[in-house]
Amino acid sequence: MSFPDDAAITATALEAHASQALARDGRVIRQPRLAELSRQLAIDTLIREGGLHGERLADFLNVYLSASTRLQHPAYMAHQVAVPMPLSAIAAMIDSHTNNAMAIYEMGPAAATVEFAIVNWMLAKTGWRPSPAPDVTDAGEGHGGGTLTHGGSLANLTALLAARARIAPTAWETGTPHDLVIVTAPGSHYSIARAAAIMGLGQNAIRHAPSDAEGRIDATRLPRFIAGLRSQGMRPMCVVAAACGTALGLYDPIAEIAAVCRDNDIWLHVDGAHGASALLSPRLRSLLDGLEFADSLVWDAHKMLRTSTLCAAVLVRDHRHLDQTFREDASYLFHDKDQPGFDFIHRTVECTKSALGLKILFALADEGETAIARYIERQSDLATEAAALLRAQSGIEVATEPQSNIVCFRFQGRDDVQIALRRRLTQDGDFYISSTEAMGKRWLRLALMNPATTIDDIAALLARLRQFR
Ligand SMILES: *Cc1c(COP(=O)(O)O)cnc(C)c1O
Repeated sequence: MSFPDDAAITATALEAHASQALARDGRVIRQPRLAELSRQLAIDTLIREGGLHGERLADFLNVYLSASTRLQHPAYMAHQVAVPMPLSAIAAMIDSHTNNAMAIYEMGPAAATVEFAIVNWMLAKTGWRPSPAPDVTDAGEGHGGGTLTHGGSLANLTALLAARARIAPTAWETGTPHDLVIVTAPGSHYSIARAAAIMGLGQNAIRHAPSDAEGRIDATRLPRFIAGLRSQGMRPMCVVAAACGTALGLYDPIAEIAAVCRDNDIWLHVDGAHGASALLSPRLRSLLDGLEFADSLVWDAHKMLRTSTLCAAVLVRDHRHLDQTFREDASYLFHDKDQPGFDFIHRTVECTKSALGLKILFALADEGETAIARYIERQSDLATEAAALLRAQSGIEVATEPQSNIVCFRFQGRDDVQIALRRRLTQDGDFYISSTEAMGKRWLRLALMNPATTIDDIAALLARLRQFR
């Protein structure tokens, strides 16, 4: 069997999988037992005998897709993972087939050129100066920089390493000084605490900033908090603002936090893994006002830019910070070359790296960037509508007015009531939602990622939950 034949079989199977899901035909989630599924997939036989082509491939895909969570189903409201644009999935295939590990230009000139342009597109959206082309002489002053990484967690680690390089320039050689602390909102994503631990600061170096009742950083109380840390001999390495927070989807007040950081000469990192995509919308971008004064930004494309996982960006206002972050010398890669392109390898934890820019380019280039902007606005409007619908119900509490496409609510009763409801729902498989802890309570949580989800789907979810009560 040839590659085009197998690819056609695969495309047909994927299309059927997605279009049935879109038509609400069948369940959104099904979890057979691992041992049973392993048998049905005939994994051991396939490894031994091979021959996964043609009809056998079609049969395998049939079983595989039947036990794959169907993100295209409008009842998929669970996690912050995009329903990818089909064209972005094709980008992933092109990347996998060409396998141009493009961290050095010579291993993938086209892929590196696309990433360079996409990083510049993101810098411009952020309000930072894009990089001039590598062969254009530039004073090196004042333009931004960035790189795409395999996910926001790695991007956050990279941004924090850049912040460390600024406050402790010798840390790369001598290790992380133990008086450094990281200031975040109490509900910051766990990848920030992990990065602190990985960097040798330990997660106790995370200091929770004063916050409002909904967990947003209270910038008015931040100067005193920072002064307090300093008087105890600690050096704030950076403040991490969420844009938006993972649990409730709320944005920290970036402009006010940026002013405090400027006054105190502290690096401001904005974790926009989920919410930075609002920059595309003229209506929503004010949620990120002040971002232009931050030092670094993390922005996932596999959340709201509709690319497949993993695809994220780490961006800095001044490229020199990122260019100085990793100082390792690998002479076989890093010799001086009179080369025509740009090597991203100096800016990333990774060595071998996928052509991630292509996934973003293809997601944007399907219908143009305004189509993605409209999608982001639509999901945000749907969240507002859903919150109003939920709030109008008796016996239901809504956590907060949504600022993004995330809605948290709970039924009257204890935390375990919410957990039991979600478990029952997931076993049933007709709806798929998540749950989270915030403001000291357990909530049911909707991440409205699917452009086909309507308010009627949310009403149907509610009716189902009421049946379980
Ligand atoms: C999702 C998320 C992350 C982690 O990103 P991954 O791409 O899942 O590694 C970090 N911070 C925030 C605010 C997020 O929403």
